[in-house]
Amino acid sequence: MKPRTGQTSKDGGFWDKDIETIERDKLKKLQEERLKEQLEYVFRHSPFYKKKFIKEEFHPKDFKSMADIQRIPKTCKDELRQAIAKSRNPLPHLCSSRDKIAGFGCSRGTTGMSTFSAFAKDDIDLRTECYARSLFQMGLSPKALFHSMMGIQSITHFILKDAANKLGSIYVNDGVDNLPISIQIGRSLKPNVLLTGVRTLLEMEKALKTEELLPKDAFSYKIAILYGDVVGRHLINHVKERWGVNEVFSLGGSAADLLWYNFDCPYHLGNHCLNEDMFLVEVIDPKNGRPVKSGEKGELVVTDLCSKGAPHIRWNLEDVVIPLYEPCACGRTHMRLKYLGRSLYEVKINEKAIFPAEIEHLLWGIPEIAGAEFRIVKYAGEMDRVKLQVEAGQGQNKGVRAKISRYLEDRLGIEVDVELVTPGQLPVMDIKTPRVLDLTRSR
Ligand SMILES: [Zn+2]
Repeated sequence: MKPRTGQTSKDGGFWDKDIETIERDKLKKLQEERLKEQLEYVFRHSPFYKKKFIKEEFHPKDFKSMADIQRIPKTCKDELRQAIAKSRNPLPHLCSSRDKIAGFGCSRGTTGMSTFSAFAKDDIDLRTECYARSLFQMGLSPKALFHSMMGIQSITHFILKDAANKLGSIYVNDGVDNLPISIQIGRSLKPNVLLTGVRTLLEMEKALKTEELLPKDAFSYKIAILYGDVVGRHLINHVKERWGVNEVFSLGGSAADLLWYNFDCPYHLGNHCLNEDMFLVEVIDPKNGRPVKSGEKGELVVTDLCSKGAPHIRWNLEDVVIPLYEPCACGRTHMRLKYLGRSLYEVKINEKAIFPAEIEHLLWGIPEIAGAEFRIVKYAGEMDRVKLQVEAGQGQNKGVRAKISRYLEDRLGIEVDVELVTPGQLPVMDIKTPRVLDLTRSR
């Protein structure tokens, strides 16, 4: 599959208007055709997937339409690790000969051995096209000087550079490990777009503090694209105020195994999966494997529909997200995701897992307290209700407290106790209010 050639902003703000605003029915049809082809392809070429499909009694011919999607087995990283160990082959999922591969990706992961991915030249080109769409969506213009702090050892760095160049922007990157050089790049070359991790951003800020400078005094960034954390309202306001930027965007996705990413748009209504023509994105209920509805939470599962190097099928990313299928206010029709985090951050109430980011998403939907800081009080190992502390101004009264409880109870299906506190009363660490006060730890 050859990627489409991008057009500049003459379409009114879209890099590739036809595909970015495609009707969802047409998009589903396109995904269905590509998935049929891809299933046949991996069955013929990938020792890993052939073995897995046979073992789980699935044949590509069993997939006739999207209604059969649940028949295709899901895949996780541990399975790949086991196959690597058993076969003593670092790439049991490789689908083509090595001379057709243009780049390898390496995923270190937090535990266990590394896994590798492999990309043919066309696989990289289509990702460059996806990045170009997203960078354009965030306002990267032909005149931009784009400072990326993505690790220069990662294949994503090269794709970002090509995508920025495709848009006519200039690209600069000295990696993430050398903070003084990165600060020097910011001060001397004056880039106007910055892509970095939340933690690195805070470290840059700390380094400037020794000279009693705010980032906005030293740098000229106007757009910040952040990854590595859920980018909430408080963080956005902080970065706008201290860094003098006009827009803060968030980046989510999977680094090495799929090289699949998503970014938000100026409307900040969830990260756009602006590559659904090339990746099938599913959000499923882990209990029964069925797709969740728009606005409900589930686990993220992604299929690479077009790559030929070492594509993955129904790869479980272990991220908990809320999908939104309605078109965004910007006009794009590809689905959006709100990230809740990993199961590590969940709080259990009556056997039900609740994520702080989920509360944030609901809470900030109430106009009177949009953007307010809050925290969950974990008062026992097993809780039967949510206890919430929410910052609210003097004008807010008992009516607001009841409204918050009712609003959350209706949507979460559990009891919610709300305590209103004065703005500034909740502690702030690393510019964020820790979302959980764990009283069980001090006992
Ligand atoms: Zn949008």
